[in-house]
Amino acid sequence: MTVPRTCRAVVQEGPRQLVLRELPVPEIDDDAALLRIEACGICGSDAEQYAGLLPVTFPVVPGHEPLGTIAKIGDRAARRWGVDVGDRVAVEAPIPCGRCRVCLAGRYTMCRARGTFFAHGYVPLATAPGLWGGYAEYLYLDPCSILHRVRADVPAGVAVMFNPLGAGFRWAVEIPDTGPGDTVLVLGPGQRGLASVIAARAAGADRIIVTGLTRDAPKLALAERFGADHVIDIEREDARRRVKELTDGRGADVVIEVSANAPEPVAEALHYVAPGGRIVLAGVKGFKSVPDFVSDLVVMKEARILGAFGVTSPAYAAAIRLIESGRVPLAEMHTHEFPLEDAERAIRILAGEVPGETSIHSCLVPAR
Ligand SMILES: [Zn+2]
Ligand SMILES: [Zn+2]
Repeated sequence: MTVPRTCRAVVQEGPRQLVLRELPVPEIDDDAALLRIEACGICGSDAEQYAGLLPVTFPVVPGHEPLGTIAKIGDRAARRWGVDVGDRVAVEAPIPCGRCRVCLAGRYTMCRARGTFFAHGYVPLATAPGLWGGYAEYLYLDPCSILHRVRADVPAGVAVMFNPLGAGFRWAVEIPDTGPGDTVLVLGPGQRGLASVIAARAAGADRIIVTGLTRDAPKLALAERFGADHVIDIEREDARRRVKELTDGRGADVVIEVSANAPEPVAEALHYVAPGGRIVLAGVKGFKSVPDFVSDLVVMKEARILGAFGVTSPAYAAAIRLIESGRVPLAEMHTHEFPLEDAERAIRILAGEVPGETSIHSCLVPAR
């Protein structure tokens, strides 16, 4: 595969400032590789980064959900990763050191050995060799980048769902230990909520319920397509009462909170959870505190509240197996693909800033 000397990349120069630039494609040594990017998924974190809400140094090439084919690789890197030129891989966002205490404990998404947010899409352009993010035609793969092989025959827009689906498996299955017999309640039907439904269904959950707003009707319908047994429109129905009715008065064994920004659903989760149940908090709220948080409900129900930050390798592996199986009509969730020059529009649609346009899962497709 011939690699050009320069490539196009979207560079974020400040809050709400994206510029398409031509950047040098770096030389690589024996331990690294270059990825030719086929698609880069975008999610709520991209919208936060675009708005300037994340502690990221500008300029930076954003994009933390890349999928592509190996364009160039050092011999040692090829042996270590077990991949070669032409292989298709999904790339995890974190670039962990692999040696520190949190890495050794398996919590490598929290590794800070090389600084806060040392991850694809967040390392500044000024840190050599610059092409760290997925909003570009080529991506630099660091010796500590984590790769997963993906079969070449899956359409890129579906294959790149390894990221949201991986989150579904980690947040809705792995962390709360969901299995047969569990009733799972998912708060919020966005891409992470739908991924949680798919993962909980794959894990054999007994009953799945999803809540949303009136304007979420198409997403709630999709949740049913993916295996939800019941959906609740919280603006039209008394959600606490409906959850009680649907669970014979017990509540949900597992509650997954994946709604963005609004802290209220966190307090509501305490009312929905069954005695001995688990609540997973994965939606970030901009560091707002939670009003009406009744801690006595945690005590009296012996509920467990579990935080979820990012996704780890076993969940990605489960997601990729499910994608490759073709068992779930994932393409129905994939709503938009954008060329690099439309990155800004892609993010604004995702953030709900473009009237009349709603996206569920979307990605950038950098290849010309
Ligand atoms: Zn993301
Ligand atoms: Zn580490």
